[in-house]
Amino acid sequence: MSDTMKALVKAERAPGLWMQDVPVPVPGVGDVLIRVRKTSICGTDLHIHHWDAWAQQTIPVPMVVGHEFMGEIAGLGAGVEGLEVGQRVAGEGHITCGHCRNCKGGRREFCHNHTGVGVTRPGAFADYVVIPAQNVFVVPHHISDDVAAVLDPLGNATHTALRFDVVGEDVLITGAGPIGILAAAIVRHIGARHIVVTDVNPYRLGMAKAHGASRVVDVRTEQLGPVMEELGMSEGFDVGLEMSGAESAFNQMLDSMNHGGRIAILGIPAGPMTLDVNDVIFKGLELQGIYGRRIFETWYKMSAMLQSGLDVGGIVTHRLPAECFAEAFDIVHRGECGKVILDWA
Ligand code: NAD
Ligand code: ZN
Repeated sequence: MSDTMKALVKAERAPGLWMQDVPVPVPGVGDVLIRVRKTSICGTDLHIHHWDAWAQQTIPVPMVVGHEFMGEIAGLGAGVEGLEVGQRVAGEGHITCGHCRNCKGGRREFCHNHTGVGVTRPGAFADYVVIPAQNVFVVPHHISDDVAAVLDPLGNATHTALRFDVVGEDVLITGAGPIGILAAAIVRHIGARHIVVTDVNPYRLGMAKAHGASRVVDVRTEQLGPVMEELGMSEGFDVGLEMSGAESAFNQMLDSMNHGGRIAILGIPAGPMTLDVNDVIFKGLELQGIYGRRIFETWYKMSAMLQSGLDVGGIVTHRLPAECFAEAFDIVHRGECGKVILDWA
């Protein structure tokens, strides 16, 4: 094995990403070295590429980027037990400290000191990545390589969609990005009644429809009220999944909720938002922020749902060799896509 590898690096404090030769990372005590096979591009990677205000504040440079990945174990650091070279794996990108109260209490997703693969520690858009053994998820046989590469965003969708009981409920999903589309597929799989998905991108609304939405709404040209009437809904949505980060979408959701409705909020707004809190008060709404995935409960839930018929294979719309990263980022930027996969094999 050579001691250098190809990696996609934020090499300068400026817009862009650079494919460079960098040293292959060495697994320390308790770490696992993974030969990356497939990665997928997340909105976060786009922010890092564009070098927006968030990225400028967050990303130490130079940094190998990327956190949605699958591959196989290529080496084990000292003291690692229960894993073997050659196993097909994905990884939880939130590396938790293990010693804060939440970690100690078994609530790793609320760690106070976590670092992020490809954000604040070297990432997976590379031939190899190192993560702690406790962040490795061995991919079961029933999950394809493509789906294994998107378990991270499928996990966001799963964590959000399962936060509230949706069985027999009417669900509004604002934002038909890949995570909104995946969430539609999940709530359909687990037994929601009407699933309405909004966006401003017809291509993505088409994908949401194909993944189980009862009705999709382009909010630029259609109101929600008549759609609810058409579906025979007179009292509002029982559960809302906010997956756009758009202020207008959030307010439209507050306005369309049933009294006593529950909202799980995943979408990250660009800055502070103005919300009509009167709806929250007078309708008695319950709002829950969602960050990441439950570690590892969400991973087992999604794996089990994939085994029991949840079909998300259609979420991957583009596959490119890693060297074509510029084109791949451009496709994600234009938004006429589901998940876009880079192949490192
Ligand atoms: P995405 O940016 O691809 O999707 C957002 C979608 O919202 C886009 O399709 C966009 O067209 C749509 N949108 C914009 N304005 C809208 C409006 N007014 N009404 C309805 N839809 C509108 O992102 P994604 O990868 O699908 O992720 C969804 C959101 O979740 C993003 O905001 C992302 O930053 C966030 N996220 C949060 C976490 C977390 O841990 N909380 C993790 C991953 C992603
Ligand atoms: Zn912690």
